[in-house]
Amino acid sequence: MVPFVDLKKQFQEHREEFLTAIERVMQSAAFILGSEVETFERKFADFIGTKYAIGVASGTDALHLALRAVGIGHGDEVITATNTFYATTAAIELAGARPVLVDCDPRTYLIDVEGVEKAITPRTKAIIPVHLYGQVAPMDDILAIARKRNLMIIEDACQAHGAMYKGKKAGTFGRAAAFSFYPGKNLGAFGDAGAITTDDATLYERLCALRNYGSPKKYFHPQFGINSRLDGIQAAILNVKLQYLDQWNAARVRAAERYHRNLKGFSEIILPTCAPHSTHVYHLFVVQVPGNRDRILEKLAQEGIQCGIHYPIPLHLQKAYTSLGYHEGDFPCAEVAAKKILSLPMFPEITAEQIDCVCERLIAVLSAAG
Ligand SMILES: *Cc1c(COP(=O)(O)O)cnc(C)c1O
Repeated sequence: MVPFVDLKKQFQEHREEFLTAIERVMQSAAFILGSEVETFERKFADFIGTKYAIGVASGTDALHLALRAVGIGHGDEVITATNTFYATTAAIELAGARPVLVDCDPRTYLIDVEGVEKAITPRTKAIIPVHLYGQVAPMDDILAIARKRNLMIIEDACQAHGAMYKGKKAGTFGRAAAFSFYPGKNLGAFGDAGAITTDDATLYERLCALRNYGSPKKYFHPQFGINSRLDGIQAAILNVKLQYLDQWNAARVRAAERYHRNLKGFSEIILPTCAPHSTHVYHLFVVQVPGNRDRILEKLAQEGIQCGIHYPIPLHLQKAYTSLGYHEGDFPCAEVAAKKILSLPMFPEITAEQIDCVCERLIAVLSAAG
């Protein structure tokens, strides 16, 4: 059996540290916005290379509140990729704006720059480049478009903790960037959690208010806000895990290298390609397989190999978005990819034997399928 991710291993390896951290929160009763949250915000900002980080309840909220904080709302359009997780566009809707979708690059799966340029209208206010699977979107080109057309950039860095583009980390390029600490992410809490990074002091103040009832002081509400705080216990867990993030990302890279070595002789399997100027932190290891992908997925599951599909239906073809008026054929690269992609098991603790087993079974299933 090779699981798609194995969160239990990480817990077992660092059990004492986690239990001590959780106990510390319970002893101090700093459950809401206490010292663990402050410590994490400072350390995460340092890790990413921004002046500020603001802990929130989830990656969805991080995107949603970042959009609100920069003033995006009703009547505005926000451009993003159709091949992302639903939360990206849900956050745009939560802010009151309209998602405008574009295709992806067929090789890197990152947002298509020409598509972005063509999607701009007088209502466009912002672009959300998604650093998908662990690689950074083509930021030079996106920043150039944003500058030329006077648009804001909010990065969706929910899959790219620690990924670098020209030596700078994902999360440092936009007015603000959103991170998710959903348990399966490269940096994951033991529940829902998220953060926003920014260099902008005004945005920082606004976000602190937005996540906490618009309230700089208890029972004073000079502005709108919701309850979207990073939980104290989750912050304590993240403080333990942040120390290991580089090490865990390096382990993912080593696992990816082994996959590449094992599979490079099989030309019918399309392996992940390196995006220009970007490192890869392999949140996901996504290949394309020939033939009936869903059958292959099922066969592998029968053999004890758990794979995933990220994502089987591009957002422009989701029922929730019929009102946006897109049709099949609008974004051919994303549509082709959605039918062929397969995410192989990937987590820092995956062993060489597990990787070899996945590759062996995958090749066997593909040759049996002819
Ligand atoms: C995980 C994820 C999110 C949402 O994060 P949650 O913490 O689950 O709300 C947003 N965008 C992308 C690309 C993600 O992978």
